[in-house]
Amino acid sequence: DIYAWHSQRAWIEVNGSALSNNVKQLHKLLSPQTKLMAVVKADAYGHGANFVASVALEAGASWLGVATVPEGIQLRESGIVDSPILILGATHTSEQIRAIIEWNLQPTICTSQQALIFSTTLEILGISLPIPVHIKLDTGMSRLGAKWEEAAEFVQLVKSLPKLKVASIYSHLATSDSQDTIIMKQQQARFEAAITQLRIFGITSPCSHLANSAAMMGDSSLHYDMVRVGLAIYGLYPAPHLRNTVSLLPVMQLKARVTQVKTITASTGVSYNHTFIASHTMRIAVIGIGYADGIPRSLSNKIQVLIRGQKISQIGSITMDQMMLDVSSIPDIQVGEIVTLLGKDGQVEISAYEWADELNTISWEILCGFKHRLPRVVI
Ligand code: PLP
Repeated sequence: DIYAWHSQRAWIEVNGSALSNNVKQLHKLLSPQTKLMAVVKADAYGHGANFVASVALEAGASWLGVATVPEGIQLRESGIVDSPILILGATHTSEQIRAIIEWNLQPTICTSQQALIFSTTLEILGISLPIPVHIKLDTGMSRLGAKWEEAAEFVQLVKSLPKLKVASIYSHLATSDSQDTIIMKQQQARFEAAITQLRIFGITSPCSHLANSAAMMGDSSLHYDMVRVGLAIYGLYPAPHLRNTVSLLPVMQLKARVTQVKTITASTGVSYNHTFIASHTMRIAVIGIGYADGIPRSLSNKIQVLIRGQKISQIGSITMDQMMLDVSSIPDIQVGEIVTLLGKDGQVEISAYEWADELNTISWEILCGFKHRLPRVVI
């Protein structure tokens, strides 16, 4: 029983049915020929990649996207044998190329130099059949990818290499979560211009893809042959104005237990540097979670948590493994009680958006920030 009070001091709950719901709801936005890639890089945004990948595939995703070769290998080792896995990051070394072949992963190719390294290495390895590769174009993100204006020459070069087979052409959007669509539309126009130019050279893209969560939720003209969805499958909206497009359920909940309860008198300081001083007699609780679990210390004295469906303030500096709460409103609180830091308790909910706003960052970073010391518990 994961709820036995001594079993865990703190953990992340991963809700499989919420995840499955999200993938299915998002799938409904797509036309039948458009595929859904579940982006499961960074250990599925902190949720646990093996579980997320298997649930997402079951719910209708047909591709998986990872950032690195080891992330792809991990999925294959977990028993995902057939589903195509695209490595979104760059790979160059012979070790990486060898692993791509061995584990049946699909690389992204961004430069002529990289294409030639692949070709030569595959030659040396004696690979007879061409391997599928994905051409990345930079249409305005200025991150990975060949410049869109040079797509024709670049793709022609890749096509001329007998060991490489172009499986898709793709690009990534820089501003898809903004309500101002000018830059996004410019990127789309560049992407389409590149594909048109390729057609003039007699090259048809077997699969084109451009959209991340925000783009797929906000504009169906960006769907093309596949969408690459991360944040939305985890039940978070990339921006408030996209909330009315589909009904998503948060997959992650963050929980900890009360480890000690005490009463402190007025003027008592709490935690390092006494950044909180009691103004009256208070009941406080200690919980076993801290910044070494990935709770940013800069949230000290700023967040609330949930106990028995009530909002409770965190007080004093967050420490490495513990933090304190003002539980004066629950005088009979017990050691072992469950505290929800992110998630729902009764009618109240605290979401990653609130932490992101407080920290002047985005919810993606909050999800990815939790350390492996926190067990991921599937519910
Ligand atoms: N495609 C690429 C190339 C990405 O790097 C990412 C994530 O950053 C995604 C798709 C998924 O983005 P999102 O989580 O906004 O859906």
